[in-house]
This record gives sequence, C-alpha cells and structure tokens, in this order.
Amino acid sequence: MSNWDNLRNELDHWQEAGLLAGMWWRDDDAVEVTPALDHILALEQCYHVPLALAVVPAGVNAALVARLAETLDTRVLQHGWNHENHAPAGQKKQELDDVRHLGDVVADIRRGFDVLSGHFGNRFLPVMVPPWNRIADDVVATLPSLGIQGLSTFNTRKVAFPVPGLLQVNCHVDVIDWKGSRGFVGEDSCLAALVAHLSARRAGQADRDEATGLLTHHLVHDAPTNMFLDDLFSFEHPALKWLTIPGVFPWQ
Ligand SMILES: [Zn+2]
Repeated sequence: MSNWDNLRNELDHWQEAGLLAGMWWRDDDAVEVTPALDHILALEQCYHVPLALAVVPAGVNAALVARLAETLDTRVLQHGWNHENHAPAGQKKQELDDVRHLGDVVADIRRGFDVLSGHFGNRFLPVMVPPWNRIADDVVATLPSLGIQGLSTFNTRKVAFPVPGLLQVNCHVDVIDWKGSRGFVGEDSCLAALVAHLSARRAGQADRDEATGLLTHHLVHDAPTNMFLDDLFSFEHPALKWLTIPGVFPWQ
C-alpha cells in the first residue's frame, strides 16, 4: 500500500467512526516578503488551506504588513522577538530561555507583542510560537499575564492548558530534515508522521482534540518540498478538514 493509501485508509477509519480529522498549517520565520513567502501565500490561495504565519517581530517591515493585508485567511502568530539564541554554547538553541533574568525575556515578549498587534491588528492572534520550539517553564507561566492566550511548539501536547488561560496546539509533521540534509525530509517520513498522529488521536493515545499540525519553513523549501505541499493540499477526503486559524485557537 502506498503512503497516500495509508493516509486514505486512516481517514476512512475516522469517517466510519463519524469523526472529523482537523488539521492546521503553521509556517515559521517570516520577516519580509520574499519569493519563497509569495509561494506559500499562493498555496494558501490556490488550495484554500488557511495559514498561520509565525512572524519574527523585530524584523517586520512595511512591505510584509502590506503583503499580508492582501491575503484572506493568513493569521500572524508571534515568533519570539528577534530569533536570537541565548542558550550557552553546546546547549540546544533557545530564545525564550531561563538563562537570562525572567524580566528581560518578558520585556522582549512585550516588545514583540506590541509590534505585531500594532502592525497587524486583528490579523494577529496572541499565540506564542517559541523559536526552535523551546520555551522555559517559568516563561510559559507569564504568557497569560502578557495577553498571550495560545502556545504552539512541536510534538503531541501533554495537556491542552499548560497554565490557566493558555491553550496549546502544536505541530506534528515537519517537512524539513533539520538533523540531516536541511532539505525535504521526504514524503515517506511526512506521511508516516501524519498517519501516526491521526491514528494516535483516533485510538485515544494522543489528545483527540489537538488538531494535527503541519510545520513548514518557507525560507528553506526546495522543489521536492513544494511538490509535496502541492500533493498534500490537493489531497481530499471527507473526514479531513483544514481548520481556520481562529478555529484552532477558538477563544476569538
Ligand atoms: Zn524559527
């Protein structure tokens, strides 16, 4: 059976159970308008798959603000402040860290929040996407007091609300092979991760209410990555639904 057949088979089980498999799409590291950014915005438009764009606030320019105003369903999430690593050498990279004083980290988050809400208005959803998908626990605890109501990292969430007032919805399928080629990780790998998360949700081994998240990084997509995204977004099944971003973070 091909990988696509496996996906279809899994979704058949959802359909038989009367369930709808919600999915969502997050793309990271947007700063400015580039041909690569235009490409994923065109995908959103062409396939009607709503896009959550994690924007690095420190680098936002007027061209990006103008470009996103032309889109229909694109929503902006907060990608830290300036994507700077504060972890000591030899440790995993982290911007929202517990190496610095908490007050310094909070000041960065506030600055980023102000930039994004000022530039993007209602297009900005108060959701934190920590750079490198890592955030210290004591930083997480401060987020609701800063006006941030959502959190998105990578892998199956442990709980829906890590602290009161903060809804976590992660991504589960990464198209990039960060530890190897830093290019496309391959159709086999993507579809295996996708089917594994859907099947774990259906079986109750993962939180069924956590939408399955696709994670992309437009700045490093090569031709095979783009080909896969074309195939995935044009794949249709009655039990598969790409959620709007306010539908993923439904407090709005
Ligand atoms: Zn990033």
